[in-house]
Amino acid sequence: MTSLELTGRSRAHIVDLAEPRCAVHRDVVEPLLAMRSAAAEAGFDLLPVSGFRDFARQLAIWNGKCRGERELLDRDGRLLVAASMEQEAIVRAILHWSALPGASRHHWGSEIDVIDGAVWPAGKPAPLASEHYASGGVFAGLNAWLDRHAAEYGFYRPYVTDRGGVQPEPWHLSYAPVSAPAMESMTLEVLADALAGVDIDLAAVIGRRLPEIYQRYVVNVDAPPPELAFSSRGSRLS
Ligand SMILES: [Zn+2]
Repeated sequence: MTSLELTGRSRAHIVDLAEPRCAVHRDVVEPLLAMRSAAAEAGFDLLPVSGFRDFARQLAIWNGKCRGERELLDRDGRLLVAASMEQEAIVRAILHWSALPGASRHHWGSEIDVIDGAVWPAGKPAPLASEHYASGGVFAGLNAWLDRHAAEYGFYRPYVTDRGGVQPEPWHLSYAPVSAPAMESMTLEVLADALAGVDIDLAAVIGRRLPEIYQRYVVNVDAPPPELAFSSRGSRLS
């Protein structure tokens, strides 16, 4: 993947699917469809509600939260008021829920957020909250199926453990044969280059904290399981 693709400033690596409707990396299409049809046989409608997201979209989310035009939440999901907060606290609050533009794994096209469409009305905004995927939750069945079968199709969850960075996101799946090499290419320098000269809110704080943000929110994720370990060239190690 080129630096432009890694940071969402190109979509040359992306394919738009009509069914299910989503945009993903070209190498993700086949395994996604295979996993989806296996899930369907088990009674689940494995539906991506978010796939590829570009830099401009991530920038709009970022600036919207800084400006109070989008909801800014604390770690417990309570509403915060950006105007009354220290700049560094705003940056921390945003990064708990949303990636810095250029640093979203959704730029890679290897990531999808999924729900079970069989138990959720079409068109109704997807409830991406951990309790829905936990035991007793509306998506608990799909969640258990993914625990057992996602790796068979190359997928795993990079945000399961609370590592003090991004909040746990059981709905977020990553296709390791694409994301593992992408992670290795996604250096601090690549991220800094993507942000250079960009009209982004709180740029001074970002500039000062970038190495720390990179360590805590970009690198600090769960690794693929051993059976999905890939070398930097994308071939299996074992
Ligand atoms: Zn996601």
